Amino acid sequence: MEHLVEHMRISYHSVHEPLCGICKKHCRYFESLREHLTGQLPKPECKDIFTIRGCRFCLAILDSPNARRVHQERCQFSSVNSGLLGRLANLGIHDNLTIGDGGTRGTQVVALACKMVGGGSDGSLDLCARVCIIDEYENIIFHTYVKPTIPVTNYRYETTGIRPEYLRDAMPIKLVQKKIQDFLCNGEPMWKLRPRGGIGRILVGHGLDHDLDRLQIEYPAGMMRDTAKYPPLMKTSKFSNSLKYLTQTYLGYDIQTGIQDPYEDCVATMKLYMRMRSQVHNIEDYPLASDPQNRYNFASWRQNELERMTPEQMLEISRSDYYCWCLDSRA
Ligand SMILES: [Zn+2]
Ligand SMILES: [Zn+2]
Ligand SMILES: [Zn+2]
Repeated sequence: MEHLVEHMRISYHSVHEPLCGICKKHCRYFESLREHLTGQLPKPECKDIFTIRGCRFCLAILDSPNARRVHQERCQFSSVNSGLLGRLANLGIHDNLTIGDGGTRGTQVVALACKMVGGGSDGSLDLCARVCIIDEYENIIFHTYVKPTIPVTNYRYETTGIRPEYLRDAMPIKLVQKKIQDFLCNGEPMWKLRPRGGIGRILVGHGLDHDLDRLQIEYPAGMMRDTAKYPPLMKTSKFSNSLKYLTQTYLGYDIQTGIQDPYEDCVATMKLYMRMRSQVHNIEDYPLASDPQNRYNFASWRQNELERMTPEQMLEISRSDYYCWCLDSRA
């Protein structure tokens, strides 16, 4: 009991964590839950049930093998659409961004992705050469080639498909930067942006810090939803999963085969975001361990009082130490 109390004080278990649908074990990462159900050393009871009626994409447990079949068909996406739309996106005509249309429809969510070419003497310096932004229905709202300010020394053609002539008259990065920055803030000064009830847009992406750094755009962390930094989607607390892996494993289709279009990455991150956001969780008034109301949840109890609690009671006062994206759905 003493150990359990110690564990609960520091583990921030909450309703927002990935949970085994059979034994109710809490996991910090979906990857650990996947291990628990289908890994090298799964828990046998859970594995047996999962094999019969578990969804191999979202890891949910359904009521029957038939319900699983129906569910899994909806849970798996195919890449056909993104291939087709990606080719349309290649036409590169979406280079205008409008601001000021978000006020009445609540906070808008957009996804951004870039493709980089190489600069510097060895071509290892990432320079943004293409950028795409989509809305939450996967419509392209911005898609353009970008002209870097320093010479490109490696076009990385095998993955980018970019030739020198595509960038020669492309939009200058300064202009791209300003358009995107204004679009994201949507007419609000940056210091006033807030994730709920504001008009600034929620920005979804994979490795956004790097993309924004290369675009020289600043945006508040509270407005970003990064699939490379979201604890449930990470491999460990230090290592991210690649977007390619996440898409294949959690959405059930392949991306980044051959020449890559940033539109495809936008769609994959948006789908991952939507899946995370649509999780059905109990929503408390003060969901985060960092909310002032929760600061003393464990500290205010004496050790022996905690030791008399059931695990369920302790779980009741435990809160998440990260912002669960399901909370966006009530914004
Ligand atoms: Zn949640
Ligand atoms: Zn289990
Ligand atoms: Zn599923």
